[in-house]
Amino acid sequence: MGNFIDVIIPIPLQKLFTYSITEAEFDFLKVGMRVAVPFGKSKIYTGIVYAIHNTAPTAYEAKDIHQILDDSPIVNNIQLELWQWMAKYYMCTLGEVMRAALPTAFILESETIITKNKLRLIDESTLRDDEFLIYEALHHQSSLKIHDISNILDKKNVLPIIKRLIDKEAISVEEEVYEKYKPKLVRYVKLNSKYASESSLQNLLEDLNRANKQKEVVLTLFSISAKTKKPVKVSDLSNESGASSSIIKTLIDKGILEEYFIQTDRVQYSGDENEDSKNLNEYQVKALSEINACFNEHQVTLLHGVTSSGKTEIYVKLIEDVLDSGKQVLYLLPEIALTTQLVTRLQNYFGEQVAIFHSKYSSFERVEVWNNVLENSAKAQIVLGARSSIFLPFNNLGLIIVDEEHEQSFKQFDPAPRYHARDTAVVLANLHKAKTLLGSATPSLESYFNAKQNKYGFVELMQRFNDVLMPDVELIDIKDKLKRKRMQGHFSDRLIEEMTETLREGHQIILFQNRRGFSPIVECNTCGHSPQCPNCDVSLTYHQYRNQLRCHYCGYNMAMLQDCMACGSQDLDNKGFGTEQIEEEVKILFPDYNVGRMDLDTTRGKYGYEKIITALEQQEIDILVGTQMLTKGLDFRNVKLVGIMNADNMLNFPDFRAHERSFQLMVQVSGRAGRTEERGKVLIQTYNPHHNILQQVSTNNYIDMFKEQMNDRYNYKYPPVFKQIKITLKHKDYNRVETASIWYAKSLKQVFETNVLGPESPPIARIRNQFHKNILVKIPKEQSLSKTKEAIIKINNSFQSIKDFRSVKVILNVDNF
Ligand code: ADP
Ligand code: ZN
Ligand code: ZN
Repeated sequence: MGNFIDVIIPIPLQKLFTYSITEAEFDFLKVGMRVAVPFGKSKIYTGIVYAIHNTAPTAYEAKDIHQILDDSPIVNNIQLELWQWMAKYYMCTLGEVMRAALPTAFILESETIITKNKLRLIDESTLRDDEFLIYEALHHQSSLKIHDISNILDKKNVLPIIKRLIDKEAISVEEEVYEKYKPKLVRYVKLNSKYASESSLQNLLEDLNRANKQKEVVLTLFSISAKTKKPVKVSDLSNESGASSSIIKTLIDKGILEEYFIQTDRVQYSGDENEDSKNLNEYQVKALSEINACFNEHQVTLLHGVTSSGKTEIYVKLIEDVLDSGKQVLYLLPEIALTTQLVTRLQNYFGEQVAIFHSKYSSFERVEVWNNVLENSAKAQIVLGARSSIFLPFNNLGLIIVDEEHEQSFKQFDPAPRYHARDTAVVLANLHKAKTLLGSATPSLESYFNAKQNKYGFVELMQRFNDVLMPDVELIDIKDKLKRKRMQGHFSDRLIEEMTETLREGHQIILFQNRRGFSPIVECNTCGHSPQCPNCDVSLTYHQYRNQLRCHYCGYNMAMLQDCMACGSQDLDNKGFGTEQIEEEVKILFPDYNVGRMDLDTTRGKYGYEKIITALEQQEIDILVGTQMLTKGLDFRNVKLVGIMNADNMLNFPDFRAHERSFQLMVQVSGRAGRTEERGKVLIQTYNPHHNILQQVSTNNYIDMFKEQMNDRYNYKYPPVFKQIKITLKHKDYNRVETASIWYAKSLKQVFETNVLGPESPPIARIRNQFHKNILVKIPKEQSLSKTKEAIIKINNSFQSIKDFRSVKVILNVDNF
């Protein structure tokens, strides 16, 4: 009988791997710790200990682990349970979940290479014996691997020693493994201890009488420490005394001041005292008490509250209660809604207790939040984050809020796990015996359906805060306007009229166009040819700003053409329009006003998005043109008019959720108009003003939209009535993917009969040179979901064992959002 561990490795393997450990390791290791393990011929991976036991594997001989990377677990049992649920539900491997869950800084990919730090001469007498051995070895060899160091010291856990050598700046690490994360150090100063006595201090100040600036610095240091009673940062000292850093350095060099460093978190709140939360109005009070009542019976409650009804203030009250009971809160938002606006609002109430987690954060920052959550630190009682924050190591969750729960960006498309953060959050909350509140002005059909079925609690809030009226929505028939020559470019006379009026009153305008770039199709008027992406089956979009044609699927780009590639004609025309073109037209129509644009092209970089929002808040921008980025929970006081340039391309999008999404998008973007006092105005331009969705948007009639869409979903067996799993096959050779998908669909049909659709080529049949085929499995309510998945996995395994199909990539997308 030996000692073994099962390890999750961050690669798509169906099974866990078992490794052999020593008696001492058996006593030391705990589930959730990281270990470095050998894999294959020469690879080393970071794995997570999943189980510790005494059963040797039967199929292979267990290898020894390489080393232990942690002193205590970095992943807890609830997380492992969640990972397991995700792997099973979303039909992927635990390794794939692990890779998505852990900050990359936690994952060692290959052997770390250690070299001597040539920039620094080390006094060898300061090194301990084991440190010296390594340092010495580096005189003879330019680099060492961790594995070599283990051999030199005859010891497995050498990381603490390496860490000490790094701290002493004796060595550096090429592919930093465990030390990818470097805490940020802040420079502090204090008075040298030799001036601790009254008399020596007196002498010092007298000496400094000849160096006024320096004396000033020392006196400022006293006054700051007297005031704050905390260590004094060099930056504060320099700010308050007005002294340059060279003066401070002189004082340090003279031995009057001493510098030292303290580790600090990168992401820090530096605000003042916390504000009290707002008194709720009567509707909010009622909604809050209903939510609490629902929580007595339901684990999940849906809050359907119109835009600007004050949902956030209700969340704040719920959060206060949960914090009082000593538990943690997770506040989930779509990435794009994680703006300074909301962050500041919550920090005003909860100060340092708020931690923020999203993809624009560096790996360092993510590790910090991870550690703070793991330690249940006071700094991470409320985590405000995008979808991946469901992976944080909570140990004591009391509440999860999923705001804008209808947002499709909660679903991860690529790579696996293809999870939906809202649905996973419900499972996570259950594991913690916590509650989940879903909030939206335009709930997903799924959540509203669950509420109607009494699976979720349900609360409505139909009054806007301050009783501001819902915006007045007007539909504009562009076909008619064109016929009567009442269009200037893409602007109807009505839109121009309203814009003129709004600007004259000193209010701001948002124009929504769901496409970026200048125009999506460039067409030759002579032969009809339009330039296509060489890698994908789509037309290239013209971006005027860079004078380029670009593919929005693979990023391919080329210079704009002077003449047609097919016939050489110079008569090229633009079809369709994007945000760039609208921006340009607005500038010509309203030359005296400032125009801004918000889309993927203008918001790259960490603060790109923030800058535009601030400019709008500060009223530096009068008219903002943008894509759906505009719709997400922004609160602008002075925006009175919203123009939707063209509703039709959203409505005609080939997807069974297109109508639901168009409704959500238009209602949300309309909600940006007139959020305070004055009623806002929304103009929607369309070729089809009688479309039911547009009628429902203009009357803000969610219920009608819900009923009508649900009808379709029943009739065509779509979610939420039926569950679905979409299977996508990809290959660069069309014939191969076709044969493979026919085989796959046929096998599925033997089991699921008529509930299998396809194979079909999607509207864009080729992306990045890969041909796609889709197969859809529809699953009736009464059919076991887990049995269905088992059957699919069986078919998938047989598929993979066919030689010809092995190179075909298969993607399983559960729920198909
Ligand atoms: P929602 O999240 O439903 O769109 P918000 O919570 O953003 O609505 O509220 C809309 C506006 O009304 C915000 O500016 C908010 O500060 C204000 N507000 C909401 N509730 C209150 C309240 N009880 N007291 C004062 N202001 C409030
Ligand atoms: Zn041509
Ligand atoms: Zn492309």
